[in-house]
Amino acid sequence: MFRTLFSLSSFLLPRYCCGCKKIMNNLEVVICADCLCELGQCHNVFEDKGDLRKRTSIYYPIKNSGAFILYKKQSIASKLIHKFKYDDDLVIGKYLMQLFCNDIKKLDWINDIDLIVPLPLHWRRTWHRGYNQSEVLAREVGKIFNIRVETKAVKRIKFTKSQVRRTAQERWENVENIFKLCDQKRLEGKHILIVDDIVTTGASINSCVREISKVKGIEISVIALGLAE
Ligand SMILES: [Zn+2]
Repeated sequence: MFRTLFSLSSFLLPRYCCGCKKIMNNLEVVICADCLCELGQCHNVFEDKGDLRKRTSIYYPIKNSGAFILYKKQSIASKLIHKFKYDDDLVIGKYLMQLFCNDIKKLDWINDIDLIVPLPLHWRRTWHRGYNQSEVLAREVGKIFNIRVETKAVKRIKFTKSQVRRTAQERWENVENIFKLCDQKRLEGKHILIVDDIVTTGASINSCVREISKVKGIEISVIALGLAE
C-alpha cells in the first residue's frame, strides 16, 4: 500500500536527476545511478593519489589532506559542483559531502580533529550569494563527525574579484594578505580541518593557511570537495 502510494507520487511529481535531468526512480537520491557511477570514476583522491597536500603546503606543512573528486571540465562532477557553487543548489553540495564523509570515516586522522574551519568568504560575497559554500560543506562534516565549526577566528578582510580569468601568478598576487586572524585563542593548540569547495592553484587556501600558521601549537589538515587537474 505504502509502496503504491510512493510510486504514484513519483508518477505525479517526478524527481529529476541533478546531473543529467533524467527522471529518477524511488531509490535514487539527488542524482541517478548512472551519474553516481560516472561520479565514481573521478572520485576519491586521498593523500598521495592526489597532490592536495603538496598544493596546500606552500607556507606551512599540512598534516593530512583529502579531496573527493578530481575536477575535470565537462564531467558530471564539475557540473554538480558548479551548480552547488553558482546556482544556489545547496542540496547537491550537502549530498556530495555526505558521500565524501563515507570515505573520510575510514581514516583514523579524522578523530584527531578538534575544530573545523571553512575557508572564509568576504562578507560582501557571502551577502551577495546568501551563503559561504565552504561553510555549508563544513557544517555537513561537523554534523556527521560531531566536530564544532569555527567561523569567527579567521576572516577574509579583502574583497577580491573572481580568480577564474586570472593567470596563476595573478591569482597568487590577488590573494596576498587577504585573511586575518581575529581571535587566535580559539585555535591555540588545536588540530584544525580547513574545508574548501574546489582547490585549483591553491592560492587562496595557502594564503589562509599562512595566516592561521601564526597560531601557537596549531596543526592543520585540509579537505576539499574538488581538486582541479
Ligand atoms: Zn543522472
